[in-house]
Amino acid sequence: MTADVPADSETEQLRRQLAEAVDAARDAYRDTTRLIQLLDLLGRPAGSAELIGDMLNVLSDAFFADVVCMARVCGDRLIVSGSCGLPEDDPAYTEGWPVGEAVRRTLATAEPTALHRDVPAEDVPGSVAGLGIRSAAWIPLSAEPYADTLLILFRSLDQPFAVPDLRMLTSVAARLHMALEERERHAIIEQLAHYGHLLARHLEVEPLLDEAAGLLLRLTRADRAWVVTVEGGQGRLRAHRGLTPGIIADWPVPAKSLDDLPACEAGLPEVLKVAVSRENGATALLCAGREQARPFAQGTLEIMTIFANYLGVALTNADLYHALAERATRDPLTGLANRSALVSHLDTLLSAGDPTRVGVLFCDLDGFKAVNDLFGHEAGDELLLQVADRLRGSVRPDDLLARFGGDEFVIVLDRVKQLSEVAEIGARVCADLDDRLVVCGEQVQVSASIGGVLGVRGQATPSAMLRDADAAMYVAKARGAGQVEVFDEDASHRSRDRLDLRAELLLARSRGQLHLAYQPIFALDSRAIVAFEALLRWTHPHHGIVPPDVFIPLAEETGAIVEIGQWVLAQACRQLALWHRLPEGRGLGMSVNLSPVQLHQPQAAERTLDVIRAAGLHPADIWLEITEHSYLRHEVTEYAGALGAAGVHLVLDDFGTAYSNLSYLKRLPIEILKIDKSFVSGVTGPGGGQIDLSIVRAILAIADSLGLVAIAEGIETEDQRTALRSLGCRLGQGYLLSRPLPAAQAGLLLRPRPQLPARAHRVG
Ligand code: C2E
Ligand code: MG
Ligand code: MG
Repeated sequence: MTADVPADSETEQLRRQLAEAVDAARDAYRDTTRLIQLLDLLGRPAGSAELIGDMLNVLSDAFFADVVCMARVCGDRLIVSGSCGLPEDDPAYTEGWPVGEAVRRTLATAEPTALHRDVPAEDVPGSVAGLGIRSAAWIPLSAEPYADTLLILFRSLDQPFAVPDLRMLTSVAARLHMALEERERHAIIEQLAHYGHLLARHLEVEPLLDEAAGLLLRLTRADRAWVVTVEGGQGRLRAHRGLTPGIIADWPVPAKSLDDLPACEAGLPEVLKVAVSRENGATALLCAGREQARPFAQGTLEIMTIFANYLGVALTNADLYHALAERATRDPLTGLANRSALVSHLDTLLSAGDPTRVGVLFCDLDGFKAVNDLFGHEAGDELLLQVADRLRGSVRPDDLLARFGGDEFVIVLDRVKQLSEVAEIGARVCADLDDRLVVCGEQVQVSASIGGVLGVRGQATPSAMLRDADAAMYVAKARGAGQVEVFDEDASHRSRDRLDLRAELLLARSRGQLHLAYQPIFALDSRAIVAFEALLRWTHPHHGIVPPDVFIPLAEETGAIVEIGQWVLAQACRQLALWHRLPEGRGLGMSVNLSPVQLHQPQAAERTLDVIRAAGLHPADIWLEITEHSYLRHEVTEYAGALGAAGVHLVLDDFGTAYSNLSYLKRLPIEILKIDKSFVSGVTGPGGGQIDLSIVRAILAIADSLGLVAIAEGIETEDQRTALRSLGCRLGQGYLLSRPLPAAQAGLLLRPRPQLPARAHRVG
């Protein structure tokens, strides 16, 4: 039997070894299964929150943990951001837990910590304590210094987290960290692109900077964000989020440059600053700060730099728009309001208030031509400048003084009581001007002939008042230099020609005197025709062709424009439907001009759509043009919204000639801008047309940033077409390709087109 003893003990030993091997294999199998499960999760295309949720669930299963959570240290608190095992309303998510010794050690060493049995109470906080925790493990999410996020496992099972467990948890935590960072990077890139788009929509600086501060706060997850600039030796706080009133009250601060700005952020342990660089140097500083020692994520500075670039581009666009607005409303020589600013001011006064209290004085200098001829244009310009100064001194603070053109100035008088008051003010202006001025060293005698009118209820429009004041001025001039003449109410009404023309216009359509001409809108590169613009013509039996600029205002005064406009639309739609039947006419658009009077009609949108559909067209075949000068009431937004929703494309005509405070672009779903021909004719003018070139460039940049299509009007030469093409303008119209033509001739311009250039499309 002695021989059996060794045999028994050997067997026993073998059995033990076998059991150990089986255990080890089972452990290895279990570990491998757990690892596969976890890696599988990391590979799925889930968002960060979903990934964390799934991961904590699997960890809880695989490591028999009652509670698994992810938590971040904020100051002296540990805030739980996700968990498996904690109720949703646990204060750990909001108030957090106090930071215990285990957390401190884990962060300091960047190594996992595991405790078994006597886990100190400070390390098992809040609702977890009631679970009878016997083991716990704290795993840093990344081994980088300052890492502040931990994976924490608590279990009531009386089994320690063994070294292999901790090794596996460390590896899983590192991979989870990488996966989250990757998702974060993607999310930030998407967010940046979206924010860039949001910034580009602002064309005014203050709201732009305000939005930038808000976006910066979110983008950097900062507690405070602010934007500062330096102007005239003063550092200014231009926009901010989260700054305390005390800090705000400290601004402005003396500073020569952005580098020179003092540390206003005292008390904030973490501040990132990035300059917004533009062609003319750095112009603003973006700052983001955190209140507690919670460092910004890696890469935040790069993100801020990209954001600053977006802001730089948006600021440049805003500046360009401002310059454009100035140019559109100011007379470049005198700095006074120009003709279009005058008309829109007058329009606003007449539409908003009592027209019988609005007066107009039309002033024309006497003998100005002689000054020009004798002393040259420079002297002429200097004289105009001095006259402008004189007039500035003569007008009342609420009046608007404008240069109408050449040597003509117009004063719009608000709140005058009667025509005699208009005459009195006219006489005063006349007397103030009647003097000798020294121009280029020469003594010059100046005076002005002045005509005045007062608005008439129900009749007054800017064009009618200006015409009557102009007529009165001629009567004054006929009486000699330095005279004032006013039109009384009846006389301004008895303006025979106009009355006759108005009456005849009412019958013009039924007499077959109206017809449409069509001018092609074409792609500037291929010359393919994309659409036609319908332009109304009136052939009068005695006066011949009456230009639309003359008869459309008359039709607007009588209201006949509503019926005429409806007829124009129906004609144009019928013509387009005919062209659509030709193979070369497929996909062609039709642009139709709208009068603001039409926009203010009840059910205007339904009636417009009815006409389009009755012709068998889709609303998207039609482009409707609204001029930038038109005075729009609020209902128009609804009208335009309904048409836009149905697919009709809205065009802002004559863009750049009036400054409507961007309200058109904001209020109406405009998709297309027509660059006015006054700019187009200047792009190749003498001296390289630098001013108009930069204006056109600015309009194109604005169109681009708002996702609008631009069309250049009035292209008359090949040079203009080339210049516009090189600026990136893709569509145009003008005498170069074709004048407006009768339908039959216009149809001959159509030729088979292999492919249409991109049509206007709606943007978000
Ligand atoms: P618009 O809508 O800006 O039309 C463009 C004007 O520029 C047209 O003048 C056209 O003949 C002219 N034009 C086109 N190409 C060139 C070019 O290369 N050089 C020059 N110098 N001019 C060019 P038109 O036909 O005299 O019309 C004047 C305005 O009358 C139009 O300006 C539009 O505001 C208005 N209008 C015309 N038809 C209608 C209509 O049916 N309804 C309404 N409400 N307004 C209309
Ligand atoms: Mg037009
Ligand atoms: Mg136009």
